[in-house]
Amino acid sequence: MNAPLSRRQFFRVCSAGVMASSAVGLGLAPGQAVAEVRPYKLARTTETRGTCPYCSVSCGVVMYSREEQGKRKIIHIEGDPDNPVNKGTLCPKGAGLLDMVHSPNRLLQPEIREAGSSEWKTISWDDALSKVARLMKKDRDANFIEKNAEGVTVNRWNSTAFIVSSTVSNEAGYLGVKMARGLGMVALDTQARI
Ligand code: SF4
Repeated sequence: MNAPLSRRQFFRVCSAGVMASSAVGLGLAPGQAVAEVRPYKLARTTETRGTCPYCSVSCGVVMYSREEQGKRKIIHIEGDPDNPVNKGTLCPKGAGLLDMVHSPNRLLQPEIREAGSSEWKTISWDDALSKVARLMKKDRDANFIEKNAEGVTVNRWNSTAFIVSSTVSNEAGYLGVKMARGLGMVALDTQARI
């Protein structure tokens, strides 16, 4: 039978136990004197700069991708430290961008629901762009206003609106607005204001 511990022996045993568990917590378990070195997560990745698509702040992001089974895959996204808007920071929503990129619910192709139909069907980008162009021309031909009631030339196309994404560059935004104004559109806006 073991002899009962004295008060002093009891505290000595307890403090040794606390020190041992703290050392294990710090990764100094017996037999693991040398810490495991994991390969650097971003090794052999390609950096691509982009813009967070979620809100009007338009924070800059850096996307890291690498080849996996013959396909390029984005494996990490973080704030772009060189972007003057966010200087490397992202809000919680932007910090979760990787989940959006790989979401099984993400649309990767244009879809159309024809008039009278309750079904969405996938179409190619070429078909989608051709259809949009055809509908725009039809609407402009029918509703373009060359002169107002006083006979003043106005060249307005009021029946179609145009919205530019906040993820495009300044140059693409500039060209988009020039194209829309050139067609006579008055109602222009950007997702950056939403
Ligand atoms: S990171 Fe946040 S604040 Fe920045 S654009 Fe995305 S959603 Fe907006």
